[in-house]
Amino acid sequence: MKKRLAIIFILLCISFTALGGVHNSSADTAQAKGRSVNLLVVMYHNILNCKNSIYIVSSRQLEEDLKALKQEGYTSVFPSEVIAFVKGKGTLPKKPIMITFDDGYYNNMYYALPILKKYNMKANLNVIGAFSEHSTNSGDHSDPSYSHITWTQLKELADSGYFEIGNHTYNMHKFKPRYGIMPKKAESELVYKQKLKKDVAHLQEILKENCGLTPNVFAYPFGRYSQMSKEVLLSMGFEMLLTCNEGINTITVGDLKCLHYMKRFNRNSRYTTDRLMCIIANSSKKQK
Ligand SMILES: [Zn+2]
Repeated sequence: MKKRLAIIFILLCISFTALGGVHNSSADTAQAKGRSVNLLVVMYHNILNCKNSIYIVSSRQLEEDLKALKQEGYTSVFPSEVIAFVKGKGTLPKKPIMITFDDGYYNNMYYALPILKKYNMKANLNVIGAFSEHSTNSGDHSDPSYSHITWTQLKELADSGYFEIGNHTYNMHKFKPRYGIMPKKAESELVYKQKLKKDVAHLQEILKENCGLTPNVFAYPFGRYSQMSKEVLLSMGFEMLLTCNEGINTITVGDLKCLHYMKRFNRNSRYTTDRLMCIIANSSKKQK
């Protein structure tokens, strides 16, 4: 009996130690519920060396960012690891970061993948169905300056072990006839919800069929969302919803809602890696 109690005690100690840098809130002890960790998410789009803009970053800038983030002690995690943590089924490192790429550009594979491999960092890529379908079906693909990723390339990225794939709508990443996934003026709730569900489900089906993937991460086009869109997406099985609001996320075990309006810093190429790190450091200070 004493031996069994000793084993239980040792196992409890091991699980507690494994929680590492996760800081516990108030009276939380061995119980998982209530534990929180701050999560930084950085958002990239195009990785290109011939142009720059608030949505185009050079491969050199990306490499400098990843190097600096590593030096600051950040460890990249997949969305699935964050979701598992919230469900009490996993742990997160002391300073977790999620690196995300929106829109599914081929240059993410061409430029970002080798850099991620070099620094052994993980990322999330959120694909727009209609654009990838065009690349796949037209035969016009694999040009880093403008191509979107094909289904075969997307599967290759997912299989590489460096990317987890998210849904960025099949064909609602545009300003007309609605702004992203926002309802149209005078559109009924029923019609709106049906249209959103149909579009997003269509991409889910394509991803399942062509890549064997069923994403549970959704990135809101242009960062626009509503209560209705959240209801639709959650009813479809999505668990993590990414916005473009900037700030640090507090991720808490047992609180699924903390995953529904995830904040991300847009990496703007018009500033340096040092400035990005300052922005992150200042936001992190405010969060404490
Ligand atoms: Zn987008």
